[in-house]
Amino acid sequence: MNESCLIKPLLNGRYPSVEYGQGIYLYDSDGKKYIDGSSGAVTAGIGHGVKEIAAVMKEQAEKVSFVYRSQFTNKPAEQLALKLKQWAPGNVNWSFFVNSGSEATETAMKVAIQYWQEKKRPGKTKILSRWMSYHGITIGALSMSGHVERRARFVPLLEDFPTVEPPYCYRCSFNNNFPECHLLCADQLDRAIRRIGSDHIAAFIAEPIIGASGAALVPPPGYYEQIKEICLSHDILFIADEVMTGIGRCGKKFAIDHWQAVPDIIAAGKGMSAGYAPIAATIISDEVMEPIQNGSKLIMSGHTYSANPQSAAIALAVLKYIENHGLISNAAEKGNELLQKLNQLKQNYPLIGDVRGMGMLTGVEFVANRGTKQPFSRVINVTKLIIDKSMEKGLLVYPASSGIEGTAGDAVIIAPPLTVRSEEIAELVTVFEEAVKEVQAELLLRGHL
Ligand code: PMP
Repeated sequence: MNESCLIKPLLNGRYPSVEYGQGIYLYDSDGKKYIDGSSGAVTAGIGHGVKEIAAVMKEQAEKVSFVYRSQFTNKPAEQLALKLKQWAPGNVNWSFFVNSGSEATETAMKVAIQYWQEKKRPGKTKILSRWMSYHGITIGALSMSGHVERRARFVPLLEDFPTVEPPYCYRCSFNNNFPECHLLCADQLDRAIRRIGSDHIAAFIAEPIIGASGAALVPPPGYYEQIKEICLSHDILFIADEVMTGIGRCGKKFAIDHWQAVPDIIAAGKGMSAGYAPIAATIISDEVMEPIQNGSKLIMSGHTYSANPQSAAIALAVLKYIENHGLISNAAEKGNELLQKLNQLKQNYPLIGDVRGMGMLTGVEFVANRGTKQPFSRVINVTKLIIDKSMEKGLLVYPASSGIEGTAGDAVIIAPPLTVRSEEIAELVTVFEEAVKEVQAELLLRGHL
């Protein structure tokens, strides 16, 4: 098969063709084996080739695969919504199903705006967010995203939503240290709201642990408690974008459960169906639903495939699989092992500037000088060197970048499926070490270290 008209991420890039997957491993058409060290894009939470899920797929497809949401409800979608109600914190009880993380965050944005309209405060339309964030690729979701590189081409079409510095202790925007900083990064939200005026702001959106643009940035203790308090005091909704961090990934059902800061709206995706079907959810609190239920009586959004029974049945089966196999506690436990092993690597390879993460979501940031934290020039593209070398050796890791020269330019996420075993973590880290060692030697040779 030499001819191809499939548009790939890099048009002239060479990509192996996957043949099948089993557990944390993927196999290409040449028979080469890869450790799925990032669950794809932090998605394949229960691993590949799970027979129980395949059986549910077949069973549901034979019953009914698609109905249109304004003509029928369906059992799988109803049951999935109930399951998410059990999983989500506080009164975050109502699910609106969509097909991707971008749609989930964009729906969250619209629901927040609609909520204030129903409350007769239609001026509250802005969504505040942070630099170094990623909430999705559609224009609304991208407007909320503080990922400079991904915004760049579309800036004239985007709202100027990102306003607040990220909680990024390794490179604090205020050149400060925790706890002496008194959480200046959280305080920034308060200042931004006062400057803009809360009458114009509907919500603040944040990834509880920053993923694609920061490589598993865990905020300092007390950060989200303060954020929640600021939102409450200014009448602003708090949206947790759990598309990457949710569904057990960070060692709790949702990552925000690590803190006392129940959101008003949660966006979930990726691990919700673990890659077995495209489905995502905007999960909304009773308090936010109430004025909508008493007002317009419908959410002003929706897609053809929203809440289709096929995807819903698969996501429901995935959530049950996670529960039945104790995968959330496994993520917490094995995540600690992974973090420990990566920290050991850091001792031996000056190329590694920082190791961080929570549960089965870890990040490794690379620096030219560990003492000064000097990043590499973007031209060298150390992230790509690491990713290519890892892949050559049969390990998949996921690129993360702030998109801004001089900050977290080079980092990768390591986030294998939540099913991962200790031996598999040891194997993953061994291969990663070989890749880091070779890239470090090459950079030394080229005079970049
Ligand atoms: N939010 C977060 C936190 C994400 O990590 C992503 C995907 N990387 C999205 C939203 C967008 O999800 P999708 O690619 O499914 O549209």
